[in-house]
Amino acid sequence: MDTVIDRLTESQAIFLSTHINPDGDAIGSLIALGLGLQQHGKHIYLYNASPIPAVYRFLPGVQLVQQVLPESSAWDTAVVLDCGTLDRIGVAVDFVRGLPQVINIDHHVTNTNFGQYRLVDSTACSSAEIVYRLLKKMAITIDAAIATSIYTGILTDTGSFRFANTNSAAYTICSEMVQAGVDPYTVAQHVYGTYSLGRIKLLNMALDSIEISANGKLSLMTLTQDMFRETDTNPEDVDGMINYAKRIEDVKVAALIMENENGAVQKRYHVSLRSDGTVDVAEIAASFGGGGHFSAAGFGVESSLKALKKTINSIAEKL
Ligand code: AMP
Ligand code: MN
Ligand code: MN
Repeated sequence: MDTVIDRLTESQAIFLSTHINPDGDAIGSLIALGLGLQQHGKHIYLYNASPIPAVYRFLPGVQLVQQVLPESSAWDTAVVLDCGTLDRIGVAVDFVRGLPQVINIDHHVTNTNFGQYRLVDSTACSSAEIVYRLLKKMAITIDAAIATSIYTGILTDTGSFRFANTNSAAYTICSEMVQAGVDPYTVAQHVYGTYSLGRIKLLNMALDSIEISANGKLSLMTLTQDMFRETDTNPEDVDGMINYAKRIEDVKVAALIMENENGAVQKRYHVSLRSDGTVDVAEIAASFGGGGHFSAAGFGVESSLKALKKTINSIAEKL
């Protein structure tokens, strides 16, 4: 922690980035650290390769997040948040590699320890928890704007304090964030209470697509580009849908296949995996070149849908 603080303190211009198709922890930890460093007198550039999901556009400071890379490379430090591997940031990989130093802040068990300096802690419930600790140690005031981002990161990554990564820090930090000015109801209304009609229709299709393996231990949900087109939705609208497949009785592992847009930087399909806590899906995802956490992981794959479903069914046989 101290070395990372020294590096940040010595830096003048800091480029911060997080993973493509960002979730609440990615966006929350990015904005919280960005605003904190700005308050500390640093010149900051906040970057994400994907558009900010509609449900997170209420976050104070969200307008600072750019989808394009800076024109000059006059940045002395890169901070990469909530990424198990550097390539999760997408097209900015080469830009970041070209900067003098990279700081890796993350909580994935599969983190590859990229970057010269690291704050990687897989016992943290979220990257937002690590950012909170860092800001505290740097004596940066956690104002209501920063608090909203930290709160949202923890709330979403713990599945509203329901997932296995929910720890005591999740509660204590969120309690402090509420004291700092966060209104839990307002955040919940934005994050969970304002879905487009298209998203609800997509959920209907997702539920309809569920297939259960012969032994009943694996459930599979599939979302295609046709479904997105038909409902006028985007990958951001898929967030959380896999949990329905995971809730099914006797299911140990839920998988969600999402077809990526043609020509995108990502591979043809993204597969999300969730387990009931008895199966290490990070290990399964890693065997396909991906990663994640014990109970929530993912990977990208080039395949036909038919072959991919067969591959996923072969996971079921080993459960
Ligand atoms: P998702 O499948 O996108 O819901 O992600 C579940 C977890 O796995 C998250 O913590 C991700 O950061 C991680 N993850 C997803 N896809 C990948 C990937 N291609 N490589 C490494 N980690 C991933
Ligand atoms: Mn994330
Ligand atoms: Mn996270």
